[in-house]
Amino acid sequence: MDVPRPALRCPLCAGPTEHAFTTHDRNRACSDVPFDYRRCSECAALHLGEVPEDLSAYYPSAYFVLPGLEELRERAVPERHRMQIVARHAEPGRLIEIGPGDGLFAIQALDAGFEMVAIEPDPAAAANLRDVLGIEIVESAAPEEELAALGPAQAIVAWHVIEHVPRPWALLEAAAATLEPGGVLVLATPNPRAFGLRVLGARWPHVDAPRHLFLLPHDAVIARGRALGLEPVALTATDRGGLGWNAFAWRYVLRRPGASWPRERLAHIAGDAIARVLAPVERHGLRGAAYTLVLRKPPASDS
Ligand SMILES: [Zn+2]
Repeated sequence: MDVPRPALRCPLCAGPTEHAFTTHDRNRACSDVPFDYRRCSECAALHLGEVPEDLSAYYPSAYFVLPGLEELRERAVPERHRMQIVARHAEPGRLIEIGPGDGLFAIQALDAGFEMVAIEPDPAAAANLRDVLGIEIVESAAPEEELAALGPAQAIVAWHVIEHVPRPWALLEAAAATLEPGGVLVLATPNPRAFGLRVLGARWPHVDAPRHLFLLPHDAVIARGRALGLEPVALTATDRGGLGWNAFAWRYVLRRPGASWPRERLAHIAGDAIARVLAPVERHGLRGAAYTLVLRKPPASDS
């Protein structure tokens, strides 16, 4: 009997792909099913070969910790770098956040004077953000289908979201169409050219199988953005977010689920020490765990 084969072509560019590694849900242990990731020889993107039919089973309800307003404000302080990068490239106006989750960016955007709307797949997170922040939230796991109705927007932000969506290029296309002229799309996502992935392979925590359907090289995103009329205006893997994800990976890979508190603490300290030793490598030449990319739609006068 023929066993159905996973797609051997890249879902993004239809280029040929090869097996990259096999892993399982190491981060959340929702199942012990093996997952194959494939690498495209044309665009270098990694993708999950066979996507589980019911991905929602891999997003347990505790995926988001839902804080109240005061705690949210407090916890948003170390995340200020996200607002800083948006503020450098966008004037306050309508801002659409895709996947606000815990709301750590949303509260900053509100405080900075943006008119905030969001698209969020998790019903509990969406309800909480509506209650706590009073913002308009569309509940959907297909942001590319919702964007047009929410625009036009001065900024669209997606922090660690594009790797979760089944059709990332459709999301880019919808974002490009929804931005006002001069508006920006701000993306942060794990970096398939990370030093950590090269060293740890299937064990790299930012693979996050099977939730991460794609690991997208920055040049592939930039090329796709350009084809949609968006110009790159900023790219970094050494912003505070990127550096935090470097350390996170080394801590997390040493962690053992269910380990006692002293062992967990030891893993944390050892992970930070490894990140410090590797900092010269990980901070050089876009080899960090995650990058942040800002794409701008040209102002109307340019077109
Ligand atoms: Zn490809």
